[in-house]
Amino acid sequence: MSYEGKMLEDLAMPTRKDVEHALLKTLFNHNGVIKEFATGEEIVTEIANDFNLDEKQRTVVLERIYRKENRIVKTALWHRLLYRAADSLAKDKLVSRPTTTILLTKKKEWMLTENGYDEALKLLNIPKAQKEFLSTKSFEVQKIVKKLKETVRPDNYDPIDKNKKFIKTTRDAVLRTRGFRQAVIEAYDYKCAVCGMKLNSPNSSFWEVEAAHIVPHSSMGKDDIWNGLSLCRLHHWAFDVGWFTLLDDYTVKASSKLNHLPKGYGQMGEYNFSRQLTDNSSKLFLPKRKEMFPHVNSIRWHREKFFIEQNRGER
Ligand SMILES: [Zn+2]
Repeated sequence: MSYEGKMLEDLAMPTRKDVEHALLKTLFNHNGVIKEFATGEEIVTEIANDFNLDEKQRTVVLERIYRKENRIVKTALWHRLLYRAADSLAKDKLVSRPTTTILLTKKKEWMLTENGYDEALKLLNIPKAQKEFLSTKSFEVQKIVKKLKETVRPDNYDPIDKNKKFIKTTRDAVLRTRGFRQAVIEAYDYKCAVCGMKLNSPNSSFWEVEAAHIVPHSSMGKDDIWNGLSLCRLHHWAFDVGWFTLLDDYTVKASSKLNHLPKGYGQMGEYNFSRQLTDNSSKLFLPKRKEMFPHVNSIRWHREKFFIEQNRGER
């Protein structure tokens, strides 16, 4: 047995497999990314805490002699074990290495891949069906998000994809949907564009807002940020059924049918659904960068092809 192997055994350190599992779970709980391990890094302590490591296990140093160079390299054993586990996960393509992730995010981080994501879900007993709504990042989805954010906004944008495939089950289509969702809600800082509400789940895994298509998926609307809006569930529904649309200057235009709703409809305590849409002639909460604003061609489609149709007989 190697000197290192004997040390690991003598100190009853966790097995590499156990550390790999702990890493996957920790990655998942840190939004899919953790910084490259450096000494004094919080994450190193956090995982040590998960294993209840004692002071010696955390601090013991392994000395390796490099005969050729005639020098001794000292590394904390725990630190080395963590690195080895991460390295093994990278070899199995369950995480991307900091040297690869940096090309995507400009940060030296370990990041979950889709396969690693699935492993983490299994370890945490989270049904795979929830993946679509989770905010945890994966390398493949972040690649799509980056592309969506960096594509140059065309002046003459056609929000309709005539070749759009409706089968949602292909891997690419599923990734694309998640990329769209993440890019849109990130662009709006996780707020509803209409009411500004921002809310996540107590475990921080889910955001309340959804990424709405302006030209809907069913009408072959494209998955671009310019055809998206971040909306809370109430306003997503209201937009999709035609209670409101948008003017070219991003003002909310509410249906005049709201004036004829029976008394008590849309009332929740002090909050009134109609009043919020009609009184509040203020503009949408929009992304910081103008290139990410909804495209006027998407907005016009919603107003002219959809809203008018849903509001026939409007007085
Ligand atoms: Zn809202």
